[in-house]
Amino acid sequence: MTSEKNNRQEKVVESNPSLESEINSARINALELKLETLSIITESLWNLFEDSGLDPRSDLKGEMAKVISDRAKRDAITVRCPACHSQEKANASYCQKCGESLDYLGDISPFDY
Ligand SMILES: [Zn+2]
Repeated sequence: MTSEKNNRQEKVVESNPSLESEINSARINALELKLETLSIITESLWNLFEDSGLDPRSDLKGEMAKVISDRAKRDAITVRCPACHSQEKANASYCQKCGESLDYLGDISPFDY
């Protein structure tokens, strides 16, 4: 039922280039908003470190390597969808198969989205 609905939506999008363009514009706008938010968070944290007397430049590359490693570990965590029992990435908000909310309460960073 859900896949029939998805197929229908894909056909509507394929046969309507302006709709596809609008959807892509909305996706780009959402990504730009997320990027701006992350940039603001980063600058705020940088300022907080400087204000607290820490030098944020002291080991930025080392900290970046740690963040990359930690993200890879979080990205590997999977949970079972409560509705369709599909194995899904825990840091995804919704099941990629059926759209059910995953509501994972484990070790997820606010930077996972
Ligand atoms: Zn599911």
